[in-house]
Parts: sequence; C-alpha cells; structure tokens
Amino acid sequence: MTARAPGRVNLIGDHTDYNGGLCLPFAVPMATTTTARTRGDDRLRIRSAAFRDPWTGHLDDLALDARDSIPDWVRYVTGVLWAAREDGWPLAGLDLVVDSELPLGSGLSSSAALECSVAIAVGTLVDRPLDPGSRLSLAELCRRAETEYVGAPTGGMDQLASLLGKPDHAVLIDFADISVRQVPLALHEAGLVVLVTDTGTAHDLAGAGSGYAQRRAECDAAAAALELPRIGLAWADDLSRLDNEVQRSRARHVLSESARVEDTLAALAAGDWATVGDILSASHASLRGDFAASTAALDLAVDTAVDAGALGARLTGGGFGGSTIALVEEERADAVRRAIDVAFADADVKAPTHLTVLPSAGASVNRTG
Ligand code: ADP
Ligand code: MG
Repeated sequence: MTARAPGRVNLIGDHTDYNGGLCLPFAVPMATTTTARTRGDDRLRIRSAAFRDPWTGHLDDLALDARDSIPDWVRYVTGVLWAAREDGWPLAGLDLVVDSELPLGSGLSSSAALECSVAIAVGTLVDRPLDPGSRLSLAELCRRAETEYVGAPTGGMDQLASLLGKPDHAVLIDFADISVRQVPLALHEAGLVVLVTDTGTAHDLAGAGSGYAQRRAECDAAAAALELPRIGLAWADDLSRLDNEVQRSRARHVLSESARVEDTLAALAAGDWATVGDILSASHASLRGDFAASTAALDLAVDTAVDAGALGARLTGGGFGGSTIALVEEERADAVRRAIDVAFADADVKAPTHLTVLPSAGASVNRTG
C-alpha cells in the first residue's frame, strides 16, 4: 500500500489559520510517498530515505509521554499513529518506508506531506474511507499529531491543502468553521507559474521560543483582550480597543490578510492577474510590517522578484526564514530566478534554490503499491 501526499504553497493568507481567518493554499506537484505493510507482530519499523538510520519500536511506544526517546523526524510518523490510535484505529505492527521529492524545512510543508502520506497509507490498510468529508477528519488527525505530539503548533492549513488539493485549483479554507472549497486557479491557462524561492534559512516553527510560537501568543493575547476566542473573529473597528500596540499590529495583519484572501478570490473570478499580483505584494508588506515575520533574505527575494517583472511576490508558509513565492509569466520565470540569484550573490547571502509549481492533485493511494 503506497500513499502519496503533496506539499503545498500558500498563495495567500498567512498566520490566519490558527486565528480563525481565511487562507488559499494549493497542492504542489512534489510529494512524499509512504509505503505501509502490516507485520505479523506488534513492532514498528520506520525508515525514510532522508535519514540514514531506520527506527524500530513497539506499538506500546506510541504514548505521548514515551515520545522523548524517539528521534525528531520519526515523531511526525509516530505522532500520526498516536493520534490514529486515540481515534480508535485498530493498529497492529507496521513497516513504513518514506521517500520524498520535497525539500525538508523550506516552507513547502514536507511535514504535512509526511503526516498525510502516513495517515492515508495506514488509514487505507485499516479500511478508513477517503471521501472529502473523511479527508477533513484525517487533516485534523494530522494537525493534532504535529501540534500535540511533535510540539510544532500548526493551524491545519498544510494538511488540508495536501489532502484536498486538486489540479488547477486552490483550496479555500475558512478557519472560522473549518469549511473548505476548491476554487479555480488556472495559472497554466493564463501562462503563469508560481516561482518558489527557498532562501535556505530553515524556519524553526517548533519550540516555545520560536517566532511562530511568539506570534501565536501575541494573537491569542489580542483575542483575549477583546474577549474573543480568536482574533480573526474581530471586526476592523475592534482594533482601536487594543491598548497594546504590538497586539494591535498583529491583529491588523490577521484581519487585513483575510480581507486580501477575499480580494484575491474576486480578482481571480475576474481573471485580473495584475490585481492578484498586487495583493500578494501587499500581503508581504503586511507580514513584514504589522506581523514582523519576514527576514532580510525573504525581503530581498520578494523585492527582487517584483523589480524583475513578477506580478507580485510574498513570503509563504509562515516566514522567519523558508520560502517566497512570485507570481510570474512562464517565459519570465527564468529571468526572475536569475535576478534573485544575482541579488543574493551581490548581498553575499547564501545562494537560494528555486522551483516552479502549478496547482496539483491532492493526496492519493496506490493500492497495488
Ligand atoms: P516544512 O514542513 O516546511 O518542510 P517543517 O520544519 O515543518 O518544515 O518540517 C520539516 C521536518 O519534517 C523535517 O525536519 C523532518 O523532521 C520532518 N520530515 C519532513 N519530511 C520528511 C521525510 N521525507 N523524511 C523524514 N522526515 C521528514
Ligand atoms: Mg511544516
């Protein structure tokens, strides 16, 4: 049983997921595959092509308080098995073999791709359905694995995009009620691609001291000050009631970012790609200013892409390092890529790596694999 789950880029809507706002990611062509086989015993054997040593353990090792002795990367896998057992999946011993086409830790969500490929492969082994409604529950299971077990507090966007992506479509997620809709994103037909530039600075999303955790805490504090469950549920008028200036900026980003997702939908419906590009650049300005989630390298990639003729560009996937995206005409993509390379060389910054992507299929299973 082999399952394939793609990474994602977020076209727009960053730091909105855990705040109850809107986001618009799409699945990319590169994916992680997991091959799962049942064993005759209660042992677990987990191997990834990205790491030298396989990990072997026991079903009994899946308790939350036993995870400290498990290597970091393995926890993304055992976390899914832990959450699955909590949900009552009848798990026996398993051999799991993982391989990935995604760069690890660069903002294309290799972590969600790994979790989702494990969930789909193992879920299929134990006869879990894969209809769209069931995929919503699987996404939540994987989100719990990453948040509660791995300890990297993610909002759930990555898992939903990986599980519910569709070619030539983006996945609109409203985190106020976790409703999902696939919306046309016909980049190819419009002669456009998304250029992803990995700045090579790993974004550390895990850990209590990370920028991500700090922003989450600031957003939670802003929501608490307004007596709301999440800051994305506030109205723009409410912001003036926030005395704390930092909290007010963070909240302003969350609300303006959700509004930009809505504006993007309108521009997409009108086929107005120039406006889509402008909105992407406005998102970056907000993430850089109000949300303070950018870095010098991310800013350099974004500014250079726009100067070199991209319709718009922004950091994607949370910031504090990681990748940027630029919306660019297919025939200009190489020139934009080169301009970024030159700018990085001139600034004496480590050379970035690039990929071009189009909206692609969500996770699938190959039953003969
Ligand atoms: P991103 O999701 O943007 O790639 P994260 O920091 O969220 O970055 O997740 C990266 C981590 O996920 C890796 O450091 C590793 O622990 C784990 N991981 C992802 N893909 C794989 C894989 N194919 N094999 C083993 N571990 C993986
Ligand atoms: Mg991740």
